[in-house]
Amino acid sequence: VTTRKAIDEFPVESDFEVKCEDFVVLVKSGSDDIIVKNLYVSIDPYQINRMKSFSSTHKTSDFATPIIPSQPIDALGVGEVLASGNPEFKEGDIVIGITHWAEYSVVKAHTNLLRKLETLGFPLTHHLGILGFSGLTAYAGLFEVAKIKEGETVFVSAASGSVGSLVGQFAKLHGCYVVGCAGSDQKVTLLKEKFGFDNAFNYKQEKDLTATLEKYFPDGIDVYFDNVGGEMLEAAIANMKPFGRVAVCGVISEYTNSKKAVPNMIDLVYKRIKVEGFLAGDFLDMFPNFVSKVSQYLHSGKIEPLEDISVGVENIPSAFIGLFKGDNIGKKIVKFAE
Ligand code: NDP
Repeated sequence: VTTRKAIDEFPVESDFEVKCEDFVVLVKSGSDDIIVKNLYVSIDPYQINRMKSFSSTHKTSDFATPIIPSQPIDALGVGEVLASGNPEFKEGDIVIGITHWAEYSVVKAHTNLLRKLETLGFPLTHHLGILGFSGLTAYAGLFEVAKIKEGETVFVSAASGSVGSLVGQFAKLHGCYVVGCAGSDQKVTLLKEKFGFDNAFNYKQEKDLTATLEKYFPDGIDVYFDNVGGEMLEAAIANMKPFGRVAVCGVISEYTNSKKAVPNMIDLVYKRIKVEGFLAGDFLDMFPNFVSKVSQYLHSGKIEPLEDISVGVENIPSAFIGLFKGDNIGKKIVKFAE
């Protein structure tokens, strides 16, 4: 899958091209080249920011290197090694790392952060979601950035998404009062009935988000885990308690909308609110502890994964675009083959 051009507006399927190309690769022993048959790839909102035109007004960070139109799109994936020039990997190994939105990838073990995947007895897909970056993002954001404490009030947006559904579950396990918002009644029911949120609401049905949050948090919000930015951030800030903390994980409402909402800054001042953006990649040293803890939660049934899997490379564009329309429920993954 490639992009045809830079995508600065809301993405549509014609922005993408699914191409079939023959390639011949000679894998020399000691070359570090590895051919991977991709089994699953991760579909993530941040990719849209890499697809924009990178004029002087839009600078990207090292983290979000541009995706060049017509070039393969790199993404986190799980695959099987078909051939390897690196002695640490052999044919048949199941690996995780930066592969592509493609059925096959030629990667370099070091550059593409490839590692053999220890499944720990869990499905491969869990390592792209609950036991992977989504899980680490939720965990680090709540415990290291927002520093939640037992009994606090927590609000999370995009709550039925990959990160959001885990934020809510981790916060509940920590003894917090948790309310989430999502974009459909079906998602709201899921949050309350399956994931044990204390409450949830469909933000698309609410006219006055500030008043809505006041209803759910009459004494205010201690921690807002922000996945969406924009108007919801503004409404949350209006409802924060003094010394509340906002962990800014993502601002998806702004990724496809260049009109940026400016939160009410005076509330930040008077209420001495701490707003902190973060990247999960800054917390990789927590990864082993995180995996061990969340594996235990999974084994004991204290936490539930939520995955949304499409099948086939041709469905990658619609799976990706669906993230910005709220089509997905949980971690969006595309599966290529068994
Ligand atoms: P999700 O699984 O949450 O999918 C995206 C969801 O966002 C959609 O299902 C939709 O749900 C919601 N959404 C889409 N457009 C809007 C909008 N305009 N306004 C409000 N909600 C919208 O994705 P992830 O869990 O992977 O990512 C969630 C957020 O976390 C993103 O902002 C992402 O960029 C960020 N992120 C940050 C990381 C970090 O290291 N800081 C790492 C991973 C993700 P709904 O039906 O509720 O509208």
